[in-house]
Amino acid sequence: MLQDLFKNVKKRMSDLPFPHVEDDGVNIPEDLWFQCPRCRAATLADEFVRNLKVCPKCGYHARISVNERLKLTVDEGSFSPFDESMHSLNPIDFPQYTEKVEQLHQKTGLREAVVTGQCCIEGEKTVVGIMDSRFMMASMGSVVGEKITRAFEYATREKLPVVMFTASGGARMQEGIVSLMQMAKTSAAVAKHSDAGLFYLTVMTDPTTGGVTASFASLGDVILIEPKALVGFAGRRVIEGTIHQHLPDDFQSAEFQLEHGFADAIVQRSEMKETIGRLLKIHLGGDLWNG
Ligand SMILES: [Zn+2]
Repeated sequence: MLQDLFKNVKKRMSDLPFPHVEDDGVNIPEDLWFQCPRCRAATLADEFVRNLKVCPKCGYHARISVNERLKLTVDEGSFSPFDESMHSLNPIDFPQYTEKVEQLHQKTGLREAVVTGQCCIEGEKTVVGIMDSRFMMASMGSVVGEKITRAFEYATREKLPVVMFTASGGARMQEGIVSLMQMAKTSAAVAKHSDAGLFYLTVMTDPTTGGVTASFASLGDVILIEPKALVGFAGRRVIEGTIHQHLPDDFQSAEFQLEHGFADAIVQRSEMKETIGRLLKIHLGGDLWNG
């Protein structure tokens, strides 16, 4: 039925200058529709954007860019970035890596897969980090690790909380062992921040996996997840192949992780800013009710 719908849409839109994507053999004008990767429902792009890029049918919270996240989360005009120009020097001389990073810079405007800085959320001063899956699936290499470590060190010095939006495919294979070392480095920085009695809030977004889940993403004092986000360590097929068992259908979903104690709450995107603001106020000892 869905295919017939797309065929009709395609017929009607065939004269329009939109880019097309192949999907199950049917061309869909991608600027007009969002097709949910969870429930496969199609939503008009306008409606999808108005709904903060959340699937109206199943509630899947789609991946959004750093700029979209900043707009939704931080107080207007309050964000000042850290280490904006830091970029990878290809530490193990991985073929074509430098070119790939440059291409992504041209495409996304980003220098790396995480943006860090200082801002206010609901009036509370905080350090923030936002990962962007458009940049090499936000894998963690030396620059991502260094920027996150510096953000925590700055927060520790300035006695500020940290809010980290995580999204990652894991460690960056193009940086070999150097990428794995970032797990220990970021975790040590989180520990020093925690030892100083400061608050760290993680917001896991789709997808948060691999070495990022196994380091700073799971170390928050409070861990929130966006609905339907994929959160896990190794992929389903790897685990099933290792343990020779079939995993539940909702394995590694946000809802599964909440039920099994890996997160504290699932929070809707529309309520995220207010929830973060309230948690910051509680931990900073501010007046919760009078702002
Ligand atoms: Zn959906």
